[in-house]
Amino acid sequence: MLAVFDAKSLRCLYTNSQYAQLGQQTPAQIVGKTLAEILGPELSTLVLPYAHTSISSGEPVSYTRTVTDASGPRHLEVSFVPVNTSSRLYVLANDISKHRLAEQALEQSMSRLHKFMAASEEGIAFHIDGMITDVNQALLRMLGYASDEMVGHSTLEFVPESEHDRVKLVIAKRDEIAYESLALHKTRGAIPVEFIVRDIVWAGVKQRMVIVRDISERRATLERIRYLALNDSLSGLPNRAALDEHLRLLMKAKPAVNFAVLFLDVDQLKRINDSLGHAAGDALLIETAGRLARLCATENAIDQDAWLSRIGGDEFVLTLRNPNEATLDSFVSRIEAAFDAPYFLNGRKIKASASIGVALYPSDGEDSNQLLKNADAAMYAAKASGRRTVRYFDQALARAADAMLEIEQDLASAIQTSQFELFFQPIMSSDGRELISAEALLRWNHPNRGLIMPNEFIHIAEESNLFLPIGQWVLEHALREVKDWIALGWEHARVAVNLSNNEVRADDFVAEIIASLRRTEIAGEHLELELTERMLMSQDNAIRDALLRLQSEGIKLSIDDFGTGYSSLSRLSALPIDTLKIDQSFVAELPESHTALAIVTALLQLCRGLTIDVVAEGVERADQRDCLQLLGCDAMQGFLFSRPMNASDFKRWLSELLSEDDWIQPRISRKRRAN
Ligand code: C2E
Ligand code: MG
Ligand code: MG
Repeated sequence: MLAVFDAKSLRCLYTNSQYAQLGQQTPAQIVGKTLAEILGPELSTLVLPYAHTSISSGEPVSYTRTVTDASGPRHLEVSFVPVNTSSRLYVLANDISKHRLAEQALEQSMSRLHKFMAASEEGIAFHIDGMITDVNQALLRMLGYASDEMVGHSTLEFVPESEHDRVKLVIAKRDEIAYESLALHKTRGAIPVEFIVRDIVWAGVKQRMVIVRDISERRATLERIRYLALNDSLSGLPNRAALDEHLRLLMKAKPAVNFAVLFLDVDQLKRINDSLGHAAGDALLIETAGRLARLCATENAIDQDAWLSRIGGDEFVLTLRNPNEATLDSFVSRIEAAFDAPYFLNGRKIKASASIGVALYPSDGEDSNQLLKNADAAMYAAKASGRRTVRYFDQALARAADAMLEIEQDLASAIQTSQFELFFQPIMSSDGRELISAEALLRWNHPNRGLIMPNEFIHIAEESNLFLPIGQWVLEHALREVKDWIALGWEHARVAVNLSNNEVRADDFVAEIIASLRRTEIAGEHLELELTERMLMSQDNAIRDALLRLQSEGIKLSIDDFGTGYSSLSRLSALPIDTLKIDQSFVAELPESHTALAIVTALLQLCRGLTIDVVAEGVERADQRDCLQLLGCDAMQGFLFSRPMNASDFKRWLSELLSEDDWIQPRISRKRRAN
């Protein structure tokens, strides 16, 4: 909108139609009129001063006003511009409604941003070059300040000094980034936060907006995850992964350190799990972890940097820095002493012990795998030589460990190449005149190693799942021998076959056994199966049903090595058992040990009540035989009567026995169990 006036008279010389329209007139109606006439009295008092100022100063003067017409209110910016040394006055009017709307929108968006800031759970701050211009409530709550304690202050006041350089750098580079850092709480010190920083135009000025996120919880979760990855959930001790890391650090240490790795295995865990249940086993482990941890926290142990972890079921590993013979010995005996106090599990008092294997770095292994493997081998040797012992790794052990591996490899082909052989040991009445049965005992004629006894390879076969075919072989060969014995005249011949854990756990072991009987055409009463307490302790009824099926075939069932587990006697009486074999460890202590005497007496009494037959194992001396006989146990097995013999020796021995005059054809079972 443009009009030109004479500066002296303020009469209109020219106007365009847009300007004329402001007053709802045509240009012809306006030209020649004075500005005061065009504006009318009211507007003139408002506007004329601007015109006069402009003319007298020779400078443009602007003002804004609002006009309202049919299309609503409009914002006008009007400028008086004097030209030709103030002889002419130009009037320029611009409709600035659009700009006004934009400003209003900005105001609204600012209030929206304010609302957003107020509603946000996350802390928000604005700053210009590090000077805080605005903060929201969430941030004030997060950091514990009042608004005036933050606004107008430097951002650096709210981060710990350690973070200053980074914060300054981010401000200087004007990066749009997110990074984890720390913020200072007014009273609680540094808290972990994430800063998300970006530029934003705020109140018409370019500012930095910082979103502050409290990540304490995220940190805590991450730490929990890390804890779980590196700690055993049962005992809270460092786990296998943590041990690997610990060993790696020890091996990297400068200057280099020597250290000992002690591999500790709790002797009784399996037995306790099987007999008292897993909760009792867990309690044993937790208690043991606690005892060992307390030991590692004693002054002496701290001096040697004792470090404890649990790496598997019943396995703990300790490390000791720069040990010498004396410190190591005393540490080991303190570990052993830690097991002295009894454990109370399920209301029972139980003694536990540990077998310990020790390997030294660097002499017994230069990497952690080798070192642990050797400590483990030493532990196995300790366990094999009787529980509650310690064994240091040495070269003989290294060879034994290799041998074990070889055994595992050789076992696979031992059946095909007929390296197995059965020996037989008679079970007799105490006077040696009655033959009750013969136990089949497995031997392995190894091509290089010579004769290997079952205790040396059966557990390896079980662990590597090679035992099922071996067990099958034993059963069939034992049954074939029985055939020969019957033919020799032992009418009620009976062979006792040991079953392994793996066999009993196999799906259809009962069907397999019955099939073997059918194949060899032997009646069930010629077979006796020796089970261990462990096999019978599972609480489900499957094992009971299996035993009943076997018994219905006429097969006798006995419990081997009785007294070495924690069988519950009530459970025992619920199972269809014919014979109980008292473990040789009790017999060995007869007749001197009062404890052994008491246990054997009680067992015999109990079995009489349950009409279960009793066999004493490992009878080596006449005084043991006599004592057992006096206590009322008449069935015996042991070197006193006969060592295990190979098949042909046994047949020769049997023929001799059968030819003796006072030989008694044995009874099948002296007492039949009432079902
Ligand atoms: P077991 O079933 O308790 O067998 C008795 C063990 O005691 C046999 O050892 C036998 O030679 C030994 N023995 C017999 N009388 C005496 C004695 O008077 N004094 C001493 N000190 N020992 C005596 P062996 O043959 O070395 O067998 C050891 C174990 O290996 C057996 O203990 C049995 O648990 C297991 N075993 C043997 N053969 C087989 C088999 O075919 N299958 C399974 N699953 N296990 C078997
Ligand atoms: Mg046996
Ligand atoms: Mg036995």
